[in-house]
Amino acid sequence: MSDVATPSDQAAKARARELAADRRRFVAFSFASADLLIELDPAGVITFASGAARALTGRMENELAGFRFLNLVADADRRFIELALANVPDGGRLDPTTLFLKRTSGRDMGVALSGGRVVEGGLIHLSISIAQAAHAESALANRKDKEQGLLAVADFRTAANDRLQAAKAMGSDVRLTLLDMCGLDELAGRIGPEASEALMKDIGTTLRLHAPVGSAVGEVGPGRLGVVHGAGTDPDKLRAAVEGLGRAVDPNGVGLTVEKRTLDMNMGDMSAEDGAKALNYAMARFAKSGANNFEMTSGMDSLKLLLADTVQRINSFRQIVVTQSFRMAYQPILSLRDRQTHHWEALARLEGTDSPFETIRFAEDTQIVEEFDLAVVERVLKTLEARKAGAPPVLVAVNLSGGSIASQVFVAALDNLLASYPSGRRQMAFEITESTKIEDLDGAAVFVRHLKEAGHEVCLDDFGAGASSFPYLQALPVDFVKIDGAYVKRALEDKRDRAIMRSMTGLCLELGIKTVAEMIETEDQAALLEGMGVDYGQGWLFGTPAAELPSAPPKVAPSVIRRTAPMNRGGSSATPSPSGRRS
Ligand code: C2E
Ligand code: MG
Ligand code: MG
Repeated sequence: MSDVATPSDQAAKARARELAADRRRFVAFSFASADLLIELDPAGVITFASGAARALTGRMENELAGFRFLNLVADADRRFIELALANVPDGGRLDPTTLFLKRTSGRDMGVALSGGRVVEGGLIHLSISIAQAAHAESALANRKDKEQGLLAVADFRTAANDRLQAAKAMGSDVRLTLLDMCGLDELAGRIGPEASEALMKDIGTTLRLHAPVGSAVGEVGPGRLGVVHGAGTDPDKLRAAVEGLGRAVDPNGVGLTVEKRTLDMNMGDMSAEDGAKALNYAMARFAKSGANNFEMTSGMDSLKLLLADTVQRINSFRQIVVTQSFRMAYQPILSLRDRQTHHWEALARLEGTDSPFETIRFAEDTQIVEEFDLAVVERVLKTLEARKAGAPPVLVAVNLSGGSIASQVFVAALDNLLASYPSGRRQMAFEITESTKIEDLDGAAVFVRHLKEAGHEVCLDDFGAGASSFPYLQALPVDFVKIDGAYVKRALEDKRDRAIMRSMTGLCLELGIKTVAEMIETEDQAALLEGMGVDYGQGWLFGTPAAELPSAPPKVAPSVIRRTAPMNRGGSSATPSPSGRRS
């Protein structure tokens, strides 16, 4: 054998030298920020480890060589990391991500991971550091993401806001793509619940792979997803990826049609708070209407422009609160049996609009309704305290948004207000509207109990007759439920609706919860509802919202009111038809 090196030996040596140099460079550059450096061969086996191996994995540096890296990764993160590593091309970077490492002690460790694959030889260099506080939090969020496939609505909102603020701080280019999965329910019907759950998980993982840099993937509403991603991610690829997964699992090969909208999250010099409000509003709007009705105000696709519009609306709503430019109207709620007024509902009237409905829903979506709810409570408390001696005693129910009651600040402010009007508060009850905005049923139950202990009756407003309503009944110790006007209308025409309403009324009776039906416009409806066992009624048949509470006991018999009331719909202002607003 000759000891003269052949050209191929020389090439191999040169390559070994290059690799060694690569490794030295990698070590030198990385030590400043990383706690542990790891090199993997193309099969994913550790060839070199240096740094805080013991603290991060429970094993010494030299023990790690020969280990498959994926075996160090916590179960929930393994598939994601496997795919992420497989997707790093030669010479390419592994985008920073967070994951959990398995430790020999059994306690997983949240870490930040980045790295790259060398041009030749396919070795992967990984730089791992202990997740900082902020990172650890997002690592936790990501973990939930991976376990469930997708972040739940509230978690995604938080994650998207975090990414928005981080992007602002770092001046980076971040986008939000909203995906509307049309035909998801039908697809789920064809493939069954287990396969649809697996599909959602795959969609979550795949979207994260397509949008790795600082990404967040989650639900914004039923069948509607959001992805926060960098400028390098092509939103069309996100859409196509979801459609591909849908087609692959569908025995009919039809799958889903995905509509997308992409929003540039560059806030410019807007405040962080305003940016968050606009983002929340955009997501709430998309959750409600999907892509088709989601016009970003004349085709806008930048958060900054959407923001300008939103901020203007927010300011004019705040102005309404600050200048108190709203009035109250009061509508009676009667016992269906004897037609005696039981209490009154306080309804806000805003200048220049027929119904406060749209404005209040906007305030709920932008999370500014709390201030308004408090202003209404105070206005009604003042009115109640100012009532003349001798005026008939009244009970007035004030609407509180389901979004408000989740806020500790709101609850404390409400307590303060009520304490300042001791005689007014004795005549006050509450209706909780938009209960779909209640994300934390346990928290809402604490609030309801708190009001009840202070002597207030509580009603759950706009109650639906479907099965989705039952968890609310179970969780919330309310005194009344108010059956949504849409069901009241349908009850007269639809046998099935009647059957469901009858069983719901029976259930409420058993639970000791009184029932109210709203938007009763005809005697036929009143008779039907009374026959079903509904206790109370509200609607134009009995009385429209009026500017004043009664100052003297009624002089006319309730039967006369019954005949004349519908003539005077609108009360203090033109009351719109809420049936119209629901269509
Ligand atoms: P809501 O609490 O379910 O109020 C009932 C709505 O039905 C009121 O609409 C009322 O005017 C209307 N209505 C009453 N009787 C009839 C009837 O026989 N037929 C029909 N078609 N409609 C009837 P309004 O006043 O436009 O209020 C709309 C919604 O705005 C309310 O629905 C409530 O969710 C919200 N809202 C109103 N005032 C306040 C408030 O002070 N605070 C909060 N948070 N929300 C409020
Ligand atoms: Mg109400
Ligand atoms: Mg209602």
